[in-house]
Amino acid sequence: ETTKETLGFQTEAKQLLQLMIHSLYSNKEIFLRELISNASDAIDKLRFESLDQESLLEGLGDYAIHVSVNKDAKTLTIADNGIGMSRDEAIEHLGTIAKSGTANFMASLTGDQKKDAQLIGQFGVGFYSAFIVADKVEVHTRRAGSAATEGALWTSHGEADFTIESKEKETRGTSITLYLKDDCADFADDWRVRSVIKKYSDHISVPVMMPAAQGADDESDAETPTWEAINEATALWTRSKADITDDEYQSFYKHISHDFDDALTWSHNKVEGKLEYTSLLYVPKNAPFDLWNRDMAKGLKLYVQRTFIMDEAEQFLPLYLRFIKGVVDSNDLPLNVSREILQKDGAVENMRSALTKRVLDMLSKLAKGDDYHQFWSTFGPVIKEGLGEDFANKDKIAKLLRFSTTHSDSEVQDQSFDDYLGRMKPEQDKIYYVFAENHNTARRSPHLEYFRKEGIEVLILSDRIDDWAMMQLGEYEGKKLQDVAKGDLAQQSEEAKQAQEALEQSSESLVERMKAVLSEQVESVRPSVRLTESPTCLVVGDFDMGAQMRRIMEAAGQ
Ligand code: ADP
Ligand code: MG
Repeated sequence: ETTKETLGFQTEAKQLLQLMIHSLYSNKEIFLRELISNASDAIDKLRFESLDQESLLEGLGDYAIHVSVNKDAKTLTIADNGIGMSRDEAIEHLGTIAKSGTANFMASLTGDQKKDAQLIGQFGVGFYSAFIVADKVEVHTRRAGSAATEGALWTSHGEADFTIESKEKETRGTSITLYLKDDCADFADDWRVRSVIKKYSDHISVPVMMPAAQGADDESDAETPTWEAINEATALWTRSKADITDDEYQSFYKHISHDFDDALTWSHNKVEGKLEYTSLLYVPKNAPFDLWNRDMAKGLKLYVQRTFIMDEAEQFLPLYLRFIKGVVDSNDLPLNVSREILQKDGAVENMRSALTKRVLDMLSKLAKGDDYHQFWSTFGPVIKEGLGEDFANKDKIAKLLRFSTTHSDSEVQDQSFDDYLGRMKPEQDKIYYVFAENHNTARRSPHLEYFRKEGIEVLILSDRIDDWAMMQLGEYEGKKLQDVAKGDLAQQSEEAKQAQEALEQSSESLVERMKAVLSEQVESVRPSVRLTESPTCLVVGDFDMGAQMRRIMEAAGQ
C-alpha cells in the first residue's frame, strides 16, 4: 500500500479535536508535555518489548527524545526512538479514541469552557493537543523491528480527515512535525521551548535533547548540531526525597495524571527489607469525571526495577481508593509480570495492604489541615465504600469520616466522630444519626424533635451511601450507631420517662382505636413524647431495613 489514502476521523475523535482546540487555547503550552509524554511512553513500550526480543532495538539501545525548531519555517519537531507505529497502527491510534468511557466523557461536557478544559485534561489531552498550536501536523513513523520501507507518513490539518502514505524511514520510532499557527510561532523559539520542557518534562526518565546553544567556539554547523540534554532524565521516584522540590513533585503528578491542577498532597516512600519497592502516591484535588463508573481507569503505574510494565495496575489498592494516582516500582516482581500473575502474587498482596495503610495515613495527616474539607467534599462518599470493603482498616476509615450534625446545623460535613464523642452527654451510650435522601429533609425530620429538645446531638446524613455505610460500621469506639428513625429511644431523662408514662395512661383508649383502624398498615401504635411539633411519625423497627435500604430493594423489584 504505497498509495496515499484520505480517511475521516472517528466521530468522537473529531469532536474531541474541535473541543480541544477551542477549550484549551489559554493553556496551549501543554501540547508539548503531551507529545513528550507520548514519546516517553513509546520508549517505555520498546524497552519492555525488547526484554525478550532484543532484535527490536536494531542494535541501538540509546533511548532519547530529540526536539528541534525552525524559526523561519515556523516548525517544531519532536522525534523519539521508541516503539513507533505501523501504517495500520497510525490509522487506528491517531484517527480514533480507544479509551473506555469515551461516550460518558462526551456526555459529561457542559459547554462551559473552563469546566470542560478541566474535564478534557482529566480525560487525557493527548496527541490531538498538537492542533491547538498547529494547523498542520505530520507524523513520520516506523515500528521497531520492521524494514525501513515500512515507514508511514500521517498528515492532517486537524479538521475532518487525515491522509496516510508510505514513506521510508531509516530509524525506528516516531517523528512529529508541527506547522505552527501564526499566533503560536513562539513555539519555534528555542528558548521558549526549552523553558516549557523544563517546566513539564524535567522528570521524564529519558533524555530530552535540543541542539546545544551556539557558542563562539562552537564548530558545529546547522546540519549536524551537537545535542544536549535539557532535563534531569532520572525517574523522579528513584531520587531521594530531600533532593526533590514541591514543584518537581507537582509536575510529575501532572505527567502521570494529566490533571491541570496541582495534587492536594503526596507520599513518597522507599521500602527495604523482605520486600523492596518504592511508591509515590498522590491525592488529586478534583474528582475524575468518571469516578462513579465501574470501568474507569484506576490503579497505579507499575515499574519493575525502573522498567515500565503497565498502566492501571489496579491490584495495588482497593477499589475505594481508586482516585489515588501514582507509581509503584518493585524490585521483587519478575519483569514479565502480567495482570494474571499480579492477581495471585503474595508479594502483591502484601504491598497492597502496606500501600493502603500508606494512603490512609496520608489522609489522616491531611485531615489535620485546612485542605481536608476540599478532599472530603470531593471524595467523602468513595471513602465510605471502604467501610464495607476494607474490614481490616475500618477504624482508620471511621476516623476519616466527616459529618453534618445538629450541633452546627450546617450542611457542611466537617465534624468527626471524635468531635461528636467530645460533646456527648455523660450518660449517653449511642451515637445517633438521622438519614434522608437530602440534607434539608434530613434536618427537618420529625424524629429530630425529641433530640433537639433534649440537647442530644444527631449526625445528619444524606449521602446515598450513608445508610449502608452506618450499618457496615455498626459502632465507633464501643458506641453503637443508632438511626433515630428506628426503635425506641434508648435513652431518656427521668423527666421524659415520667412524661411518657403519663402520656401512655391518658391516651390508652385513643391508641387502641388507632391500632384497630391501622392494623393493616402498621405493626403498632405507641404514644410518644418524642415529637414536640409534628402530630405523628412513622418509626421503623430496630431490625427492619432502613428507609434507604427499603427504597433500594423496592427499586430492585423486591
Ligand atoms: P494516550 O497517550 O493517552 O494513549 P494519546 O492521544 O496521547 O493518548 O495518543 C494516542 C495513541 O497514539 C497512543 O496510545 C499511542 O498508541 C499512539 N502514539 C502517540 N504518540 C506516539 C509516539 N510518539 N510513538 C508511538 N505511538 C504513539
Ligand atoms: Mg498521551
